Amino acid sequence: MTDLTDLTVLDALQALRSGQVSSRELTQACLDRISRLEPAIRAFITLTPELALQQADEADRKLAAARRGSANFAPLLGLPLAVKDVLTVKGVRCTCGSRILENFVPPFNATVIERLLAAGVVVLGKTNMDEFAMGSSTENSAYGPTRNPWNLEHVPGGSSGGSAAAVAAHMAPAALGSDTGGSVRQPASYCGISGLKPTYGRFSRYGLVAYGSSLDTVGIFARTVADVAALFPVMAGMDPLDATSMDLPVPDTTLSASADLKGMRIGLPAEYFIDGMQPAVENLVRQAIETLHSLGAEIIPISLPHTEYALPVYYLIAPAEASANLARYDGIRFGFSQQEDEMWAIFRESRGGGFGQEVKRRIMLGTYALSAGYYDAYYGRAQKVRTLIKRDFEKAFESVDAVAAPVAPSSAFRLGEHTDDPIAMYLEDVFTLPANLAGVPGLAFPVGFDGSSMPVGMQLMGRHYREDQLFKIAHAYQQVTDWHRRSPQLA
Ligand code: GLN
Repeated sequence: MTDLTDLTVLDALQALRSGQVSSRELTQACLDRISRLEPAIRAFITLTPELALQQADEADRKLAAARRGSANFAPLLGLPLAVKDVLTVKGVRCTCGSRILENFVPPFNATVIERLLAAGVVVLGKTNMDEFAMGSSTENSAYGPTRNPWNLEHVPGGSSGGSAAAVAAHMAPAALGSDTGGSVRQPASYCGISGLKPTYGRFSRYGLVAYGSSLDTVGIFARTVADVAALFPVMAGMDPLDATSMDLPVPDTTLSASADLKGMRIGLPAEYFIDGMQPAVENLVRQAIETLHSLGAEIIPISLPHTEYALPVYYLIAPAEASANLARYDGIRFGFSQQEDEMWAIFRESRGGGFGQEVKRRIMLGTYALSAGYYDAYYGRAQKVRTLIKRDFEKAFESVDAVAAPVAPSSAFRLGEHTDDPIAMYLEDVFTLPANLAGVPGLAFPVGFDGSSMPVGMQLMGRHYREDQLFKIAHAYQQVTDWHRRSPQLA
């Protein structure tokens, strides 16, 4: 048999069910690969090998019982998974890439974790990320940067860079991330893997540490779209603990072997092919769209006229929400402080020393945008323009089933390239922010390599709650291409 860490999610599940491989063997293979590659890549903040092997043994017992016919196979029984350090796993430290949470051990599971554990997954560890998910490179982590497995001098993207790097380096067959403004799609694209940002409301956010609550979504990384689609139904659905989760039927995401896209209408927004983007990115995305056309999809030029406002709107709304969400990290909770001066000293020292530079910048920006006298001009105005951006999509989806676009204007940049220039870093997000502002789903997948042999991805955005259409289109593409089968050469 091939190296166990080369198995896709679907192949691993099949091998586990048939008894060809045990969950312990598969888990151990991932842990061994992590030990070998971690010194160079640094995808994880916390590893949980004992927990993983214990869960694997439990899965092996259940697999044996199911093979005997005395139980059903839970959908993901025995599958190893890496989890971004922004989602709570009971009893496992959850840092969010921040010093301020370095000792925080949550006493509860996030709802998506609860669902995945019930479906039989094995948790390998918690992955590195930009502090509180603020960033596009994983360089804003208090625990040091993660490296891109395709070239260790380059960033993996962010903020879910650890999860994307872990999957690209075959340390884990799948991983969870979060996407508030592109943090799943952009690192997926930079690392040459597939990544889903679901519709806002599709997955519960309970146990996802809040950044921008009206934008935050939990997302999925895997090497193939079919693998992402395999985790999707397990995680989807309404949760009484998240009032924004929707009680809607989960569409059937079983993918057919057919690559026929006849009848599918795919929109090409003029505003997403702009001056200043890397020519290789544009060429690869256009070639991929040509491939979709050759599979029968109709390609229709469209316009999303308010796209240019997405960046300023996002960088007002997200910091505004963040400044409110992050107020809870006061260094006191939930203790009692008697003396007033002592209380202010605790605030100042905990927040001053616990938060990194980018987080402080966002808190200041957000607090300013929400302050009396500026609220209407900044936050209020941004909310109005957000509605216009959402309407652009609603209008587009009257005539197309999906919108195809690049994920980012460039491929993965070098470490340090944008660290002194926050605006340059924010510009990496121009193409991913609109989907979060509109709440629509987005699916990124690899479409080739640029001149420096770095992977490039494209994204499909869809109607609210129609992730199934995105899976269908991207899976058809992966039936006739093999970019998703390429892996970095790692010694
Ligand atoms: N890069 C964007 C930001 O810094 C998006 C991050 C995210 O999706 N969590 O806010």
